[in-house]
Amino acid sequence: MSQSLDHVTGLVCVVCGTSYPAADAGYVCPDHGTEGILDVQYDYDLVASRISPQSLAASHDTTMWRYRPLLPVAQDAAVPPLTVGWTPTYETPRLARDLGVGRVWVKDEGRQPTASLKDRASAMALVKAAEVGAEVVTTASTGNAAAALSGLSASVGQKNVIFVPESAPEAKVTQLLAYGSTVALVKGNYDAAFDLCMEAAEEFGWYNRNTGFNPYMTEGKKTAGLEILEQLGWEAPDAIFVSVGDGSIIGGVHKAMKDAVALEWIEHSPRIFGIQAAGSDYLVQAFEAGEDVLTKAPISADTVADSISADLPRDRIKAMAAVTETDGTYLRVSDDEILAALPIMARGSGVFAEPAGAAAYAGLVAAADSGRVGSGDRVVVLSTGNGLKDIPSAIKAVTAVGTEPMHILPTLNSLIDALK
Ligand SMILES: *Cc1c(COP(=O)(O)O)cnc(C)c1O
Ligand SMILES: [Zn+2]
Repeated sequence: MSQSLDHVTGLVCVVCGTSYPAADAGYVCPDHGTEGILDVQYDYDLVASRISPQSLAASHDTTMWRYRPLLPVAQDAAVPPLTVGWTPTYETPRLARDLGVGRVWVKDEGRQPTASLKDRASAMALVKAAEVGAEVVTTASTGNAAAALSGLSASVGQKNVIFVPESAPEAKVTQLLAYGSTVALVKGNYDAAFDLCMEAAEEFGWYNRNTGFNPYMTEGKKTAGLEILEQLGWEAPDAIFVSVGDGSIIGGVHKAMKDAVALEWIEHSPRIFGIQAAGSDYLVQAFEAGEDVLTKAPISADTVADSISADLPRDRIKAMAAVTETDGTYLRVSDDEILAALPIMARGSGVFAEPAGAAAYAGLVAAADSGRVGSGDRVVVLSTGNGLKDIPSAIKAVTAVGTEPMHILPTLNSLIDALK
């Protein structure tokens, strides 16, 4: 490794706390296997000498790489050319009023190059893969991490092999084919695709981007959390709502808050609310029953929100800590509530989300109903993916609220009749 990672002090196992030097850390702790996910540690004094709210205010880099001194990459590393990050965070006063919540913002990750937050992690994966001279990169995915790795790879000509469940939405699979990935549609669910991808990566020596395995993915995803803080003028919100499948995004948002507290950019972390679909509620179950996620058995997941469908959340240790360490909570929302939230959020903010993105808003509705957030709170909803990713679900959602187009002749009279 020629380029300097002097600000990274080590990678720490989330199970045993052993620290490994960045230069020779593997993906996971050798003593704890796939449970032994590593967490990247920084020399915050060194980081603080390179980046601050003031330096950021003067930065012209409107991508996730504006936070480069706080990311596990060399300061001069080449990054993929696609514009990842710095997505807008919109204030939505009509939604706030309807919810009885002080202020509400929606961060629109649907505007990323491949239309989901996953681009942040995949951009990071490509930089790390280049660092080790990887010939092939691979991931398993419910669809969005795949599309992200595929698109980012296309932008730099990186060979890649993608594993998705056969049931992945058509739009997501089509993205992979357009970008020219080698695509394996696995007869089985995400968890089956994941296990096969892990085996293949090991067998063929491919660079492994898998969520909840590759420790650098959280670091890419945390840039969404850093942006929330910066876009709110470093006045931390009271709560952030995040939908949760594997738990890597919520872990990343938490990491952003921990970084910002360590650097004294904010005083304390917002409460982080993890939202799961009722049919994929492993972490809600564990949270409610106080179960240890290291030993809790997988569930059998099934939800309309395909991006958050996971039998066993791969990043569950970080995901649980994100909620328990910030005084947040885990909430479950039904598929009907998710589909109901989709047009409500679209109409109240202009942000059209796929079901997994709308799930975070459904969680806010549930939290407002139960008084967990209220008129004194400033709240951010992370809308993680674009509504165009899953048109069949969007059609279900608008049909459920009885929205139909007018069918008319091309005459003014026909229009006048229809408008009556
Ligand atoms: C991946 C994804 C999520 C969930 O992220 P995890 O890290 O798996 O918890 C939520 N929404 C969308 C749109 C996603 O693509
Ligand atoms: Zn360990």
